[in-house]
Amino acid sequence: MRSLDELVRPNIRALKPYSTARDEYAGGAISTWLDANENPYDNGMNRYPDPHQRELKRRIARLKGVREGQIFLGNGSDEAIDLPYRIFCSPGRDNAVSIAPTYGMYRVAADINDIEMREVPLGDDFALPVDALLAACDEHTKLLWLCSPNNPTGNAFPAAEIERLVRAFDGMVILDEAYIDFASEPGFLPRLDEFPNLIVLQTFSKAWGMAGVRLGMAFASEPVAKLMARVKYPYNINCLAQATAAERLAFDITPQVAELRSERSRMIEALATCRAIERVYPSDANFLLVRTPAPDRLYNALIEAGVIVRNRSHVRGCEGCLRITIGRPEENDRMLRTVQDFRP
Ligand code: PMP
Repeated sequence: MRSLDELVRPNIRALKPYSTARDEYAGGAISTWLDANENPYDNGMNRYPDPHQRELKRRIARLKGVREGQIFLGNGSDEAIDLPYRIFCSPGRDNAVSIAPTYGMYRVAADINDIEMREVPLGDDFALPVDALLAACDEHTKLLWLCSPNNPTGNAFPAAEIERLVRAFDGMVILDEAYIDFASEPGFLPRLDEFPNLIVLQTFSKAWGMAGVRLGMAFASEPVAKLMARVKYPYNINCLAQATAAERLAFDITPQVAELRSERSRMIEALATCRAIERVYPSDANFLLVRTPAPDRLYNALIEAGVIVRNRSHVRGCEGCLRITIGRPEENDRMLRTVQDFRP
């Protein structure tokens, strides 16, 4: 790995971040808060939130088995996807490499930041193209984007292959594990300390059932997590999100995840027997990618039945494919009946 000093943009290296009133507060028995130009009349929301989200990070650290200093919390994963470009990539000069097809925000964030994105197609059966990814990198490649389990293909990549990439690439690897709770393998968080150039993304939007809260997590070495905290908006996680997430972390998500995984198996079997479906791809996520000879017509038939899925048939590498989220059993049955009745 190149040193962090070499990888970080010079202006970010030199940045003096904004210091909030609550950064300056050094503790002590304060009863009168006259430091932040807030409205003094208590309505539960009149104070700024903790800019460092200390309580929430304390709970997440315990849950995930990492140190608090290794955690960055963002306004959804989207913020954690945008920040690496702003920290590491000089616009018009540096580039990023990613697998394709994959989650669309890596490219959108690259385009917004004026960073060239080099997309490397997945191999047969959506295999990770390790050598082709490395071959696409040059001395200006700062970021390598991986998503496992991958959206929209659904498959998780073998840990040994991900590890080979992280060890061989000398910039930052961002491994998006948004769907890791649905996978059979544990992901890379337990091994975070082995890889100083790895950023693991997870989210509260999927297995944790908090898409509306907008809370994404990034896990990295302390120096990298600190860089992300320096560049973020000062109060990026609002009071409601911090409080709701802290409270809901006490819930046991295991039964819901188990039901979704069992529904996934049920749908894989049932869809595979449908005349309209040529292929159901294996999935480690909470969705299935299916290939059909008539994707647009099947998509519209589902809409007519009041069921919306994601039409991915116009995405390169996903020709003929619909992506179907696993819902509650009765919702899955409604989807299934339409697919069973459909004549391609
Ligand atoms: N990563 C992946 C791979 C996703 O599929 C999604 C949502 N579709 C996200 C991140 C976004 O997560 P968040 O809601 O935390 O922004």
